[in-house]
Amino acid sequence: MPPMLFDKFKTMAAFQAELAARQVAPFGAVTEELFSATEGVVQGRRVILAGSNNYLGLSWDPRCIQAARDAAARWGTGTTGSRMANGSFAEHRALEREMAAFYGLDHGIVFSTGYAATMGMCATLAGPGEVILLDADSHASIYDGVRLSGAEIMRFRHSDPDDLARRMRRLGERAGQALIIAEGIYSMLGDVAPLQEIAAIKREYGACLLVDEAHSLGALGATGRGAAQAAGVEDDVDFTVGTFSKSLGAIGGYCVSPHAELEAIRYCIRAYIFTASSSPSVIASTRQALRIIQQEPQLRDTLWDNAQRLYGGLRQLGLPVGPAASPVVAVEMTDQINTINCWQALLERGVYVNLVVPPASPSSNFLLRNSVSAAHSSAQIDDIIAAYAGLVEAGLLQPAKAG
Ligand code: PMP
Repeated sequence: MPPMLFDKFKTMAAFQAELAARQVAPFGAVTEELFSATEGVVQGRRVILAGSNNYLGLSWDPRCIQAARDAAARWGTGTTGSRMANGSFAEHRALEREMAAFYGLDHGIVFSTGYAATMGMCATLAGPGEVILLDADSHASIYDGVRLSGAEIMRFRHSDPDDLARRMRRLGERAGQALIIAEGIYSMLGDVAPLQEIAAIKREYGACLLVDEAHSLGALGATGRGAAQAAGVEDDVDFTVGTFSKSLGAIGGYCVSPHAELEAIRYCIRAYIFTASSSPSVIASTRQALRIIQQEPQLRDTLWDNAQRLYGGLRQLGLPVGPAASPVVAVEMTDQINTINCWQALLERGVYVNLVVPPASPSSNFLLRNSVSAAHSSAQIDDIIAAYAGLVEAGLLQPAKAG
């Protein structure tokens, strides 16, 4: 008899058994070989990668690869310790300075993952007796952090500044010590937070604002700093967090801030203190990628051209995509089995996308989530669209609206 503790995993086990019976493996699909930032072999099939979050294709940039090689030769493969113990190398400090300087700020912290950066900051900034207001569709790293914080948690409706304002009003005097949390580009549907309105509410009450730019760093803003830069409200953002695992093509996370207090906060963040620091090779490739996004703004233009092309193509097919083009283009589906069948059919047609199920998707819907890269060629984007068109023709996907 398996222990009773395991009962709660029965639903997941049944779902896995169903996938195995159908011989599909959408979660943790194994990439067996890579040829470039946009092509590889996944589960035995040569595919275009259309779900990698590799927005600028920099994981394959020869300069980033060389920087990683050089750093491994100079520093070894790992730090074998946390930043607070033996894991703070000159490379980490240099990246912290460069990340802060990129934002025109004085203070920055580098974390081992984006998850650690967001979760750690959200868990530490507010505590018992204080209030956090977060967007209802926040990423899991935000939810996990605020739960650990011990603060009172209030969710406002997704990207609804009126709902946020109402809740702030109700808080009365406590609104002044509230922490408001929003993202830049939302990871699942690709929509952008209304940061001008959110910043205005933050200003009115003198609250604190944290913005997670995980998906918008390198994608939005005049110099690629993200959604707050694009909205012209960077001065209202107290803490910007983000990741190195998407447009910078590596792994790791950051927080930058105009507040000198960040230096004291650093040593209160458990996700910073109690985990090993990033390998120097990872830091070195990230530093190189950061240089490239500053020197080559045309990468951002190519990303958006590709985003427009994919979005336009899927819309033309009548598929239920979001209201505007974005580096994330998600097709919303209502039926689990049909979504799995479509995911598999896309793989068989040479396109690898992300299959997203609740609670990772923001509603009870399922998603075929595509992310585009500046490294995709127009022909590859057209091939992705053609694969979807094949699904429509085969009757697997039903057009939801006129193109
Ligand atoms: N924040 C957001 C909004 C994210 O989408 C993600 C990753 N999907 C993270 C944080 C965590 O970043 P990482 O995967 O680099 O740890």
